[in-house]
Amino acid sequence: MDHRRDVPRTDAVLADPRLAPAVARLGRRIVKAAVAAAQERARDGRIPPGRVAAEALRALPEHATVMRPVLNATGVLLHTNLGRAPLSDAARDAAAAVAGCADVEYDLATGRRGPRGAGALAALRAACPAAEAAQVVNNNAAALVLAATALAAGREIVVSRGELVEIGDGFRLPDLLASTGARLREVGTTNRTTAADYAAALGPGTGFVLKVHPSNFRIEGFTSAASIADLAALPVPVVADIGSGLLAPDPALPDEPDAATALRDGAALVTASGDKLLGGPQAGLLLGDAALLERLRRHPLYRALRVGKMTLAALEATLTGPAPPVTRMLHTGAGALRARAEALAADLAASGLDAAAVPASGAVGGGAAPGVALDGHAVALPASAEPALRAHRVIGRVEGGRLLLDLRSLDPADDPALRSAVRTALEGH
Ligand SMILES: *Cc1c(COP(=O)(O)O)cnc(C)c1O
Repeated sequence: MDHRRDVPRTDAVLADPRLAPAVARLGRRIVKAAVAAAQERARDGRIPPGRVAAEALRALPEHATVMRPVLNATGVLLHTNLGRAPLSDAARDAAAAVAGCADVEYDLATGRRGPRGAGALAALRAACPAAEAAQVVNNNAAALVLAATALAAGREIVVSRGELVEIGDGFRLPDLLASTGARLREVGTTNRTTAADYAAALGPGTGFVLKVHPSNFRIEGFTSAASIADLAALPVPVVADIGSGLLAPDPALPDEPDAATALRDGAALVTASGDKLLGGPQAGLLLGDAALLERLRRHPLYRALRVGKMTLAALEATLTGPAPPVTRMLHTGAGALRARAEALAADLAASGLDAAAVPASGAVGGGAAPGVALDGHAVALPASAEPALRAHRVIGRVEGGRLLLDLRSLDPADDPALRSAVRTALEGH
């Protein structure tokens, strides 16, 4: 049977009062695409022609973006492919509140131009009193590029061969630094570098000594590295890339470096990410010596690397507000995760699904704390359920022939959403 003649025209469908709010919310283009897809289904006879508007409405995306929110049940707290740290409610609210116009660079008291992002920088300094000053750029890679350009372009950065790391996805720190016009002066060997190796490499052309936390791997055995304290005695600044963004030591992560300790040990500058263990938005944090940071801020490149008002707001609220989800997730005990996994599994099993609570081992991820296993619990489902769950934006991990939904990386507030997404995805599975 030919349904083509009965399929309503696009204009007629778009005039349907049920679609008007969607046009107002998402724009005509997205709604039109949904209508076109529904018309196609009607032409193929998969839906009756009278249902085109309803089908378009059903298939409409929630947001006007191709990028969509997901539930991270991978057990990896900082999953770079899933957007790293989830923001706290305070940070989300703060970012949304300044989405319109805001006094990002305006002094409401005088009516004149004000310092950009003053609140976020003050919060950063308050959270890390060991730092004389702070700056924020787009990410940690940008922080390193800015430091290398402003302090070492045409000069040398002295760095250990054991710390020339690949950050991920083919991005290598040495390439990034060399792209600024600084020359890398590699010292020591992959497994051992001493303070004397650094000292022997210094000269009038030295810009700074760089210490990089090898955050995404561990070398064991016959190893030694010069500490920041060892290097602080050298007559050049020490820049320390600590990676994960811990501002103070965390007893749960004894091997993870933190900004306060690095600065107290004598680092002139510390660089770190905002969206790793700090639990905030994507940003690069620069902490330390006020005069050096002022040089960085005045460099033309700073203008190309600065962050927007929503990032500044989210960062400030992360620093001043309640502990962000990543901090809570990291410190959740295995017992609490077990209780959540058992409740969820029992619920799903009562709906006839093959679900069971099992012990599972999560990870910090995002190139932080590579050796640390976070013992917890997961809901185990048949591995064959993975594509259906992924289609419903539930991301787990397949392990030992099962799909694990590891609750370590999921905010407890999202447990009901996980439960209903799993039920919907696996209906009739
Ligand atoms: C993650 C990481 C980076 C890159 O940080 P981004 O914020 O992703 O740019 C650089 N150095 C180290 C040691 C890291 O762990």
